[in-house]
Amino acid sequence: MNKFIFISGGVCSSLGKGVAASSLGALLEGRGLNVRMIKCDPYINVDAGTMSPYQHGEVYVTDDGAETDLDLGNYARFTNSPLSKANSITSGQVWESVIRKEREGRYLGRCVQAIPHITDEIKNRILAVAREDPDTDVVIVEIGGTVGDFESILFLEAARQLIHESGKINALSVHLTLIPEVAGGELKTKPTQHSVKAMQELGIQPDVLICRAPVMLDESTRRKIALFTNVESDAVFVSYNVDATIYEIPLIFFEQKLDQVVLKKMGVESRHANLGSWSAMMERFAARNGKVRVGIVGKYMDLHDAYKSVYEALFHAGLEGGVEVELVKIDSSRLEEAESVESILRSAASDSGIDGILVPGGFGQRGINGMIKAAAWARTHKVPYFGICLGMQIMLIDWGRNVLGWEDADSTEFNHETRHPVVSLLEEQVDVTNYGGTMRLGKSESVAEPETLLFAAYQAPRIFERHRHRYEFSNSYRKEMTESGLRLAAFTPDGSLVECVEWPDHPWGLGVQFHPEFKSKPTGASPLFRDFIAAVRDRKQWDRA
Ligand code: GLN
Repeated sequence: MNKFIFISGGVCSSLGKGVAASSLGALLEGRGLNVRMIKCDPYINVDAGTMSPYQHGEVYVTDDGAETDLDLGNYARFTNSPLSKANSITSGQVWESVIRKEREGRYLGRCVQAIPHITDEIKNRILAVAREDPDTDVVIVEIGGTVGDFESILFLEAARQLIHESGKINALSVHLTLIPEVAGGELKTKPTQHSVKAMQELGIQPDVLICRAPVMLDESTRRKIALFTNVESDAVFVSYNVDATIYEIPLIFFEQKLDQVVLKKMGVESRHANLGSWSAMMERFAARNGKVRVGIVGKYMDLHDAYKSVYEALFHAGLEGGVEVELVKIDSSRLEEAESVESILRSAASDSGIDGILVPGGFGQRGINGMIKAAAWARTHKVPYFGICLGMQIMLIDWGRNVLGWEDADSTEFNHETRHPVVSLLEEQVDVTNYGGTMRLGKSESVAEPETLLFAAYQAPRIFERHRHRYEFSNSYRKEMTESGLRLAAFTPDGSLVECVEWPDHPWGLGVQFHPEFKSKPTGASPLFRDFIAAVRDRKQWDRA
């Protein structure tokens, strides 16, 4: 019998429900349980693929090519839950499939309604994940939105029914709320009381509360919250502000015995806790010595979440490289007009400039020329450069324009008329057929050439990473690119597509067509991020010497 934990949120959004859910998952895994994570998103978008990173943050991509909410990235960083299309459930998917079944006549003439048909569809999707693997012990279901929102009601109703049908011992409600501080420093519990009341009105009595608060709450405040919310007094936990890192949160919950209380409530015998990899990670965090500055040159700079997995992967690499990585966010359109790229790249950082440049993925024309300038600067100044997806395509445009002298070298995404389309859609390339202009999405294999930076990073020729792009290196330029010195460092197994390029005579300049950031963890950094940061750190030392 599977156990279910439903995580809901109250008072307001952005309380860190995803991190709380992931941290609980990590703790239960530490107790030897097999955990699966699911995110329910009340929005009507069928998936996150069509959402702008400016508004909604990064699109997280799974092995099977699902374009999902960035919370799945948190699940991937904190837990070992397999993640696929099935682990991200949106209102759009649910309604689309109910309406499709209705059109196919599958409801046999019945009136199709929100309850029970939509709620059944939600329940069936959750149960399908629970049944995928007979070894699954616990399914943690995070319900997006805030209780009281009109749009999350059907997900909460589905949760209520699953709790009722599974029995209390098999299904828990964990509710996350806010304890705000008002003028004078007083902490207020009233919003939490109201938020739990809103849950009770929907028929769900939370079993566990996690209160977001600026500081740890004392025993008497926790007792008061328990009394007025009908939650047992040992089941009120505090997620207080951490200035160190969000990866400390599983340990903060562990100290408060969150996992023990949850196991007891679910009738699971307490087992030995093994959080060795988390404590070791925190030790590495504390032992970091020195700082490096990485310039991120992209177009979605105002919202931190837009490049969430990239920023996290840089942090992970810093843990392994023993340095703090300061992110210097540079809006590439600022570099477009700039006379001197150098002055911006140097002044953007707090003192002596930037030690490395990373150009992340992206779509559309805006800011492209600024990225090309940054790449050219890194190449000619021997500053470590890491190009991801669009960042690799930028390397090719720079090489075409500034090394081969083709002024109009471009990607057909930005200039359809160019005489030198060094990056183009597969269907525009004569030698490859049958791919169509669709997105290349999800896990695929790349084969690294020996004696490349790429091979050195993975220590193996066969590499499995995830893709999300339409455009590719134009194969008709392979000869000119390699003859002028550019290293083609990886191909698809059939040799038809170029997956990685590297600069010659340069300490570390590499671009990959895939997205290694999605598989990086605090307990094990992505090999490419690790080596990039190592190169950045070494260059910095060499620079200072
Ligand atoms: N816009 C480019 C393409 O579609 C790059 C995409 C990306 O960086 N994810 O190929």
